[in-house]
Amino acid sequence: MTQTPEIIAFRPRLSFCFMNTFKFKYHVKLARIVRADDGTCTFGGDSTHAGAHPKGWKQSLHLIATLAASDAAFPLEDYPFTVLPLYYPFASDFPLLQYRVKSNDSIEIVHVSDYQSADSPMIETTYLPFFRGNLVPFGYEEVRAIALSEYFPTWALDHSDQKLIDSSLAFSSVMIGNNLRTFQGDLDHDCRNADCKAHGKQSRLNVFCIVPCSRDLAPDDHWGAYTDDVDLVFGTCRFCDTIVATNVCT
Ligand SMILES: [Zn+2]
Repeated sequence: MTQTPEIIAFRPRLSFCFMNTFKFKYHVKLARIVRADDGTCTFGGDSTHAGAHPKGWKQSLHLIATLAASDAAFPLEDYPFTVLPLYYPFASDFPLLQYRVKSNDSIEIVHVSDYQSADSPMIETTYLPFFRGNLVPFGYEEVRAIALSEYFPTWALDHSDQKLIDSSLAFSSVMIGNNLRTFQGDLDHDCRNADCKAHGKQSRLNVFCIVPCSRDLAPDDHWGAYTDDVDLVFGTCRFCDTIVATNVCT
Protein backbone atom coordinates (compact mmCIF):
# COMPACT_ATOMS: atom_id res chain seq x y z
CA MET A 1 0.00 0.00 0.00
CA THR A 2 1.33 3.38 -0.90
CA GLN A 3 1.47 5.78 1.96
CA THR A 4 0.47 9.33 1.21
CA PRO A 5 3.30 11.55 2.36
CA GLU A 6 2.46 14.13 4.93
CA ILE A 7 2.97 17.60 3.63
CA ILE A 8 4.43 20.06 6.04
CA ALA A 9 2.76 23.29 5.24
CA PHE A 10 4.72 26.45 4.90
CA ARG A 11 4.59 30.10 5.63
CA PRO A 12 3.76 32.10 2.55
CA ARG A 13 6.71 34.25 1.71
CA LEU A 14 8.69 34.70 -1.43
CA SER A 15 11.82 36.47 -2.44
CA PHE A 16 13.35 37.20 -5.77
CA CYS A 17 16.76 36.80 -7.24
CA PHE A 18 19.71 39.04 -6.59
CA MET A 19 23.29 38.90 -7.77
CA ASN A 20 25.49 37.04 -5.32
CA THR A 21 28.89 35.40 -5.26
CA PHE A 22 27.77 32.15 -3.71
CA LYS A 23 26.90 29.48 -6.21
CA PHE A 24 23.25 28.53 -6.07
CA LYS A 25 21.42 26.21 -8.37
CA TYR A 26 18.53 28.51 -8.87
CA HIS A 27 17.58 32.13 -8.75
CA VAL A 28 14.18 31.40 -7.34
CA LYS A 29 13.23 27.96 -6.13
CA LEU A 30 11.03 27.12 -3.22
CA ALA A 31 10.60 23.69 -1.71
CA ARG A 32 9.42 22.13 1.51
CA ILE A 33 10.30 18.99 3.38
CA VAL A 34 7.63 16.36 2.79
CA ARG A 35 7.66 13.46 5.22
CA ALA A 36 8.56 10.12 3.66
CA ASP A 37 9.99 7.04 5.38
CA ASP A 38 12.54 6.58 2.61
CA GLY A 39 13.32 10.29 2.33
CA THR A 40 16.84 11.50 1.64
CA CYS A 41 16.68 14.41 4.10
CA THR A 42 16.20 14.20 7.84
CA PHE A 43 14.77 16.46 10.48
CA GLY A 44 15.90 16.38 14.11
CA GLY A 45 17.60 13.46 15.78
CA ASP A 46 20.75 13.61 17.84
CA SER A 47 23.77 15.75 17.12
CA THR A 48 26.16 13.41 15.31
CA HIS A 49 28.88 15.52 13.73
CA ALA A 50 32.38 15.83 15.11
CA GLY A 51 33.01 19.42 16.08
CA ALA A 52 29.37 20.10 17.02
CA HIS A 53 30.10 20.42 20.73
CA PRO A 54 31.31 23.96 21.51
CA LYS A 55 34.21 24.24 23.92
CA GLY A 56 33.04 24.86 27.48
CA TRP A 57 29.45 23.91 26.76
CA LYS A 58 27.69 21.17 28.69
CA GLN A 59 25.93 20.00 25.57
CA SER A 60 26.36 20.03 21.84
CA LEU A 61 24.63 22.16 19.25
CA HIS A 62 21.22 20.94 18.14
CA LEU A 63 20.94 19.21 14.80
CA ILE A 64 17.87 20.72 13.17
CA ALA A 65 18.02 18.97 9.82
CA THR A 66 20.29 17.43 7.24
CA LEU A 67 19.61 18.27 3.62
CA ALA A 68 20.66 15.79 0.94
CA ALA A 69 22.81 17.30 -1.78
CA SER A 70 21.43 14.70 -4.20
CA ASP A 71 17.96 16.10 -3.84
CA ALA A 72 16.69 17.95 -6.90
CA ALA A 73 15.66 20.93 -4.78
CA PHE A 74 18.93 21.18 -2.83
CA PRO A 75 19.78 24.88 -3.21
CA LEU A 76 23.59 24.98 -3.31
CA GLU A 77 25.59 24.46 -6.47
CA ASP A 78 28.87 22.50 -6.35
CA TYR A 79 28.38 21.59 -2.71
CA PRO A 80 31.29 19.21 -2.01
CA PHE A 81 29.59 16.76 0.38
CA THR A 82 26.49 14.57 0.22
CA VAL A 83 24.70 16.07 3.22
CA LEU A 84 24.40 19.60 4.59
CA PRO A 85 23.80 19.59 8.37
CA LEU A 86 21.85 22.51 9.82
CA TYR A 87 22.90 23.19 13.40
CA TYR A 88 21.48 25.67 15.86
CA PRO A 89 22.80 26.79 19.31
CA PHE A 90 19.67 26.42 21.42
CA ALA A 91 21.63 26.48 24.64
CA SER A 92 22.71 30.07 24.12
CA ASP A 93 20.56 32.93 25.29
CA PHE A 94 21.64 34.98 22.30
CA PRO A 95 21.84 32.32 19.65
CA LEU A 96 24.16 33.07 16.80
CA LEU A 97 26.24 30.40 15.16
CA GLN A 98 28.62 30.39 12.24
CA TYR A 99 30.21 27.16 11.08
CA ARG A 100 31.88 25.43 8.21
CA VAL A 101 30.98 21.97 6.98
CA LYS A 102 34.23 19.99 6.79
CA SER A 103 32.92 16.59 5.69
CA ASN A 104 29.76 14.52 5.80
CA ASP A 105 30.32 13.86 9.48
CA SER A 106 32.20 16.88 10.81
CA ILE A 107 31.79 20.60 11.15
CA GLU A 108 34.03 23.40 12.42
CA ILE A 109 32.52 26.11 14.58
CA VAL A 110 33.74 29.53 13.42
CA HIS A 111 31.76 31.44 16.03
CA VAL A 112 29.07 30.71 18.57
CA SER A 113 27.56 33.17 21.00
CA ASP A 114 28.11 32.66 24.70
CA TYR A 115 26.68 29.69 26.46
CA GLN A 116 24.07 30.55 29.08
CA SER A 117 22.80 27.91 31.43
CA ALA A 118 19.76 29.72 32.76
CA ASP A 119 16.52 30.27 30.87
CA SER A 120 17.90 28.80 27.68
CA PRO A 121 15.51 26.87 25.50
CA MET A 122 15.99 23.11 25.19
CA ILE A 123 18.68 23.07 27.85
CA GLU A 124 17.75 19.57 28.99
CA THR A 125 17.98 17.71 25.73
CA THR A 126 19.92 17.77 22.51
CA TYR A 127 17.36 15.60 20.75
CA LEU A 128 14.61 16.78 18.42
CA PRO A 129 11.93 14.39 17.14
CA PHE A 130 13.33 12.62 14.10
CA PHE A 131 11.73 12.04 10.73
CA ARG A 132 12.79 11.53 7.15
CA GLY A 133 11.58 13.46 4.17
CA ASN A 134 12.27 14.77 0.70
CA LEU A 135 12.60 18.28 -0.64
CA VAL A 136 9.60 18.86 -2.86
CA PRO A 137 9.48 21.99 -5.01
CA PHE A 138 6.32 24.03 -4.92
CA GLY A 139 4.16 23.92 -8.00
CA TYR A 140 3.36 26.91 -10.15
CA GLU A 141 -0.03 27.55 -8.57
CA GLU A 142 1.43 27.35 -5.07
CA VAL A 143 4.22 29.79 -5.90
CA ARG A 144 1.68 32.10 -7.50
CA ALA A 145 -0.47 31.99 -4.36
CA ILE A 146 2.57 32.74 -2.19
CA ALA A 147 3.57 35.66 -4.39
CA LEU A 148 0.06 37.08 -4.38
CA SER A 149 -0.18 36.74 -0.60
CA GLU A 150 2.94 38.88 -0.28
CA TYR A 151 1.25 41.82 -1.93
CA PHE A 152 -2.42 41.41 -1.17
CA PRO A 153 -4.42 40.52 1.94
CA THR A 154 -5.85 37.02 1.90
CA TRP A 155 -9.40 38.26 1.50
CA ALA A 156 -8.46 39.93 -1.76
CA LEU A 157 -7.23 36.69 -3.34
CA ASP A 158 -9.10 34.40 -5.66
CA HIS A 159 -10.99 31.65 -3.80
CA SER A 160 -8.76 28.90 -5.20
CA ASP A 161 -5.65 30.76 -4.07
CA GLN A 162 -7.18 31.26 -0.64
CA LYS A 163 -7.80 27.53 -0.43
CA LEU A 164 -4.19 26.78 -1.32
CA ILE A 165 -2.95 29.10 1.38
CA ASP A 166 -5.48 27.98 3.98
CA SER A 167 -4.99 24.25 3.50
CA SER A 168 -1.74 22.84 2.15
CA LEU A 169 0.03 26.15 2.54
CA ALA A 170 -0.73 26.73 6.20
CA PHE A 171 1.61 28.57 8.51
CA SER A 172 4.16 26.09 9.75
CA SER A 173 6.79 24.66 7.53
CA VAL A 174 10.39 24.19 6.62
CA MET A 175 11.16 26.40 3.67
CA ILE A 176 14.07 25.84 1.29
CA GLY A 177 15.16 28.25 -1.40
CA ASN A 178 17.55 30.96 -2.42
CA ASN A 179 17.60 34.46 -0.96
CA LEU A 180 14.55 33.70 1.14
CA ARG A 181 13.01 36.68 2.81
CA THR A 182 12.47 36.33 6.54
CA PHE A 183 9.72 37.89 8.57
CA GLN A 184 12.18 40.65 9.38
CA GLY A 185 13.01 41.09 5.72
CA ASP A 186 16.57 40.64 4.49
CA LEU A 187 19.13 39.93 7.21
CA ASP A 188 22.61 41.39 7.54
CA HIS A 189 25.42 39.69 9.41
CA ASP A 190 28.98 40.41 10.44
CA CYS A 191 31.15 37.57 9.19
CA ARG A 192 33.22 36.11 12.07
CA ASN A 193 35.49 34.07 9.81
CA ALA A 194 38.96 35.63 10.12
CA ASP A 195 39.92 34.21 6.73
CA CYS A 196 36.98 35.85 4.96
CA LYS A 197 37.45 39.08 3.02
CA ALA A 198 34.21 40.26 4.60
CA HIS A 199 35.46 39.55 8.13
CA GLY A 200 33.98 42.06 10.54
CA LYS A 201 32.04 43.75 7.78
CA GLN A 202 28.33 43.73 7.38
CA SER A 203 26.87 41.95 4.41
CA ARG A 204 23.53 40.49 3.53
CA LEU A 205 22.98 36.91 4.52
CA ASN A 206 21.86 34.59 1.76
CA VAL A 207 19.06 32.76 3.55
CA PHE A 208 18.37 29.30 2.12
CA CYS A 209 16.36 27.62 4.87
CA ILE A 210 13.76 28.79 7.39
CA VAL A 211 12.46 26.46 10.11
CA PRO A 212 9.53 27.62 12.23
CA CYS A 213 9.48 26.51 15.87
CA SER A 214 6.25 24.76 15.15
CA ARG A 215 4.33 21.99 16.86
CA ASP A 216 4.09 20.34 13.45
CA LEU A 217 7.81 19.69 13.64
CA ALA A 218 8.33 19.09 17.36
CA PRO A 219 6.22 19.41 20.52
CA ASP A 220 6.34 22.65 22.43
CA ASP A 221 8.58 21.26 25.15
CA HIS A 222 11.29 20.67 22.56
CA TRP A 223 11.24 24.31 21.54
CA GLY A 224 11.62 25.50 25.12
CA ALA A 225 11.31 29.26 25.35
CA TYR A 226 10.71 29.41 21.63
CA THR A 227 7.21 29.32 20.26
CA ASP A 228 5.48 29.69 16.93
CA ASP A 229 6.66 33.27 17.14
CA VAL A 230 10.23 32.30 16.25
CA ASP A 231 11.77 31.13 12.99
CA LEU A 232 15.21 29.54 12.86
CA VAL A 233 17.08 31.00 9.91
CA PHE A 234 20.01 29.45 8.02
CA GLY A 235 22.05 31.35 5.50
CA THR A 236 25.47 31.58 3.95
CA CYS A 237 28.09 34.28 4.03
CA ARG A 238 28.32 35.42 0.43
CA PHE A 239 32.09 35.61 0.62
CA CYS A 240 33.26 32.48 2.44
CA ASP A 241 30.43 29.95 2.14
CA THR A 242 30.21 29.38 5.89
CA ILE A 243 26.78 28.69 7.36
CA VAL A 244 25.16 31.21 9.69
CA ALA A 245 22.32 30.15 11.99
CA THR A 246 20.21 32.72 13.77
CA ASN A 247 16.54 33.42 14.43
CA VAL A 248 13.88 36.01 13.80
CA CYS A 249 10.63 36.77 15.59
CA THR A 250 7.60 36.54 13.38
ZN1 LIG B 1 32.47 35.25 5.39
